[in-house]
Amino acid sequence: MQTDVLTPAKAAFRLTGLLNQLSTVHGDVRFPVDVESLAKNCHEIFKWHDPITSVVAADIPGFDGCLSYLGKGNGWALIYNEAVSSRGRVRFTQAHELGHYILHRATQTEFNCTDQDMDDWQADERRIEIEADSFAANLLMPLDDFRQQISTRVDFEQLGDCAARYGVSLTAAALRWVSATDKKVVLIASNDGFMRWSYSSESARKSGAFFRARKHIVELPAASLAADESVVRESEGATVPASVWFADASSGTKLREMKIASGQYGVLTLLELPGTEAVWAPWVNR
Ligand SMILES: [Zn+2]
Repeated sequence: MQTDVLTPAKAAFRLTGLLNQLSTVHGDVRFPVDVESLAKNCHEIFKWHDPITSVVAADIPGFDGCLSYLGKGNGWALIYNEAVSSRGRVRFTQAHELGHYILHRATQTEFNCTDQDMDDWQADERRIEIEADSFAANLLMPLDDFRQQISTRVDFEQLGDCAARYGVSLTAAALRWVSATDKKVVLIASNDGFMRWSYSSESARKSGAFFRARKHIVELPAASLAADESVVRESEGATVPASVWFADASSGTKLREMKIASGQYGVLTLLELPGTEAVWAPWVNR
């Protein structure tokens, strides 16, 4: 019955086109995306007969969101955790569950998703979780619009403005940028001196600039701003020797280290490496 092969990007692109149109024709506010209303109406867009009939907050300890089939004629319930106070996190969760509805509901009748499924886009190796995140990011933060908000020299100020524009967390906005940029950048989330996770742009990865923070315990370098508790915010970044973070970097190379620390998400660090220098020795130790 399902003839459309919808990829996360394709599905989000289709909805984005429609939202752009509504905004142009009717003057609807374009951002942040009203995910709740979209979830309840999107079966009409795709001409499906099993709608999302309710979007509700509920007590679901241990999970950020669920999508549940209620039986023939009753459609689906999209549930999000009532204890989550961050509107940005709730919006991303709703969009993630909407992604499961659009992309995966033919294969499962129940989806239970943790915050780890959404906070760290590479943490969960299950394909459907990565796809739901990708759909959510594409829907909430369309790249063409995102790129217009960011100058050639990114900083946490601009990413914070994007987070506000799209109604998402700073982490989600930063991940979106890192996943799309051709610059050599690494985003690191840490607590108490240790990395929780890190995410490298494709060009940074290809240059060997990545950390295996999911598989190993990785301590923050002692000389980094990230590890310096007296630095709460270095939004535009400070220039530091690249060797502080990467032992294989040649001695003259510098990188830009940006930092923002808060009780909400711990420490977020963004490293921007020189784009032209081939300073990394990524594979020699493999
Ligand atoms: Zn999920």
